[in-house]
Amino acid sequence: MPSEQQLSDVLSEFARTLVTDFPIQGILDRLVQRIVDVLPITAAGVTLIAPGLSPRYLAASNNAAFRFEQLQTELGQGPCVEAYLTGEAVAIPDLRSDARFPEFSRRAVQEGLAAVFTFPLRNGRMQLGALDIYRDEPGPLTARTLAAAQTLADVAAAYLLNAQARADLQASSDRSRETSLHDPLTGLPNRVLLLERLGQALLRGGRTGHLTAVLFADLDQFKAVNDMYGHSVGDELLIAVASRVTRQLRPTDSVARLSGDEFVILCEDLVAASDAEVIAARVGEAIARPFKLSVGQVEATVSIGMALSDREDDLPEDLLHSADSAMYQAKRKGGAGHQVVDLAEQRLVDERVSLRHDLRRACKEGQLRTVYQPIVRTADGRITGVEALVRWDHPLRGPVPPSTLIPLAEQSGIITEIGQWVLERACLDRHRWAHHVPDDFEMAVNVSAYQLMSPGFAETVANVLRGTGTDAGVLTLEVTESVFIQDSERAMVVFGELKLLGVKLALDDFGTGYCALSYLRQFPVDIVKIDQGFVATLGADASSAAIVAAVVELAHLLGLSVVAEGIETVAQHDQVAALHCDSSQGYYFARPMAADAMDELMSAGAGGVNPRLPVPAETA
Ligand code: C2E
Ligand code: MG
Ligand code: MG
Repeated sequence: MPSEQQLSDVLSEFARTLVTDFPIQGILDRLVQRIVDVLPITAAGVTLIAPGLSPRYLAASNNAAFRFEQLQTELGQGPCVEAYLTGEAVAIPDLRSDARFPEFSRRAVQEGLAAVFTFPLRNGRMQLGALDIYRDEPGPLTARTLAAAQTLADVAAAYLLNAQARADLQASSDRSRETSLHDPLTGLPNRVLLLERLGQALLRGGRTGHLTAVLFADLDQFKAVNDMYGHSVGDELLIAVASRVTRQLRPTDSVARLSGDEFVILCEDLVAASDAEVIAARVGEAIARPFKLSVGQVEATVSIGMALSDREDDLPEDLLHSADSAMYQAKRKGGAGHQVVDLAEQRLVDERVSLRHDLRRACKEGQLRTVYQPIVRTADGRITGVEALVRWDHPLRGPVPPSTLIPLAEQSGIITEIGQWVLERACLDRHRWAHHVPDDFEMAVNVSAYQLMSPGFAETVANVLRGTGTDAGVLTLEVTESVFIQDSERAMVVFGELKLLGVKLALDDFGTGYCALSYLRQFPVDIVKIDQGFVATLGADASSAAIVAAVVELAHLLGLSVVAEGIETVAQHDQVAALHCDSSQGYYFARPMAADAMDELMSAGAGGVNPRLPVPAETA
């Protein structure tokens, strides 16, 4: 007789399997083993029966029990079948005297079986099958044992139902996943499946180095078709478009319908962007041919946007989004066309965004520094001043050149902060060199147009000069011609304020913009810096020499001094000297150098004499 403890152990063991995803067969196998452990019996077996089917599952504690289960199934006769049909337990304490299942009893006795007790596995009024317990000695079981066996059978039934429900759920979710991945109208994959496939394609592309293209196609004027002919004709058109697009594709390409009249074509394994353009053009032409619908001929065109990727770390959603934006560009251009988005370009855009973000911290976290490039008197090669140039050492990317940094800083407005920092730094360094250099040793600082025009700029300059103890007369602010183009009236006002402070103004990169020589007359600048582009072509281009000569002549007439930028060779140096450029700057004399290196150079020229640079090496 089972102890209460044994029974409750078995029950709690089953209870645990309820929350696992134990398979049905596993539950049955376990059940029969445990029943033999706790009840005074020799074997146990279970047969699960589904209406109209041969038994779905069989389990037995040993070979003999297995044989008895099979026997009942083969004969269609026995206590198991009876219990299944009636829902009542069947007790055969002595098979030799049983008349109910003569054939089964005869053969079972032959095989050594003495008694069998069977309990239905019930689910409400329905039966799932039956549990047989077998004994090799005849005789009845106690009421407690019978009750325990029925309890075990009931608990097993509950768990079997649960397992069955899980299996059914899985099957139906497999089916509904299939339908949830396709567009019901056209049968094409939908967005979910597209993104899944795109993700896989990007991974493969990343490995093979081939391109993955997303072509976002949107019908032009689809709404008009719906409005004119009704939605069912609109649907006809969408179905026809789906099949036409499909026919244009290679077997490895696929097309999905996202919503409304949006179709997305996914092409893998492309070698060049032009491959995608060919497909886009083919699809565009195919759609442009009239469609024969129930209302007659209907015409359509399509706008296609494309995005390409060769990187496995591109996100499917991003690629789809790029193609979508490209499609809108195509629409804006009048539709019926296609448009490529170059992801490399896209990446640059993203990079600029992240750099801009980093730039905000750069200033505060000391990632900026200044370097100084000497400016020399052309006549004797003595250093008359330096130009401060900003440097950004990005913690991850390394040095970011000013040509990237300055436009970024201007776009985000942080240029005023950076500009002020450079100005202060430069003035502090100039102050440090004060003992080693003549009093008129010049410090030139670049000022961007945005910074110059920002409110209170002149005041800021005044504050910095005062704060660093710098004489206004040694500071030159370099501005480019762009300040005149932006807002020449305002520029004029600021120039006036700066002149009042006593700082000098230099017109940087002269000759690269639209700057007319007349500006030199109009604006109170002191120095003209001739752009290095002119200097570079001095030997080769006669007009360069003529222009430089004209600029120098006019500048001198107006009392301005001229600096030639970008001197790299001795020949260029000789030429600008012959053209009477007052000062020169360039790699030929010195590259921009760190403040420390400048310190050394400055102290070498101690005593108020302009230091001379070491004899330059020929770099032609
Ligand atoms: P810029 O004011 O015309 O400065 C001269 C640029 O030419 C510097 O480039 C300098 O390194 C480079 N250079 C000097 N000599 C030679 C030469 O012989 N050959 C060649 N190929 N290049 C030479 P950098 O430092 O990259 O600066 C580029 C531009 O960025 C500057 O042109 C200036 O417009 C701007 N910039 C630099 N620092 C600042 C700053 O603190 N504030 C602002 N607003 N702009 C700055
Ligand atoms: Mg400059
Ligand atoms: Mg310049």
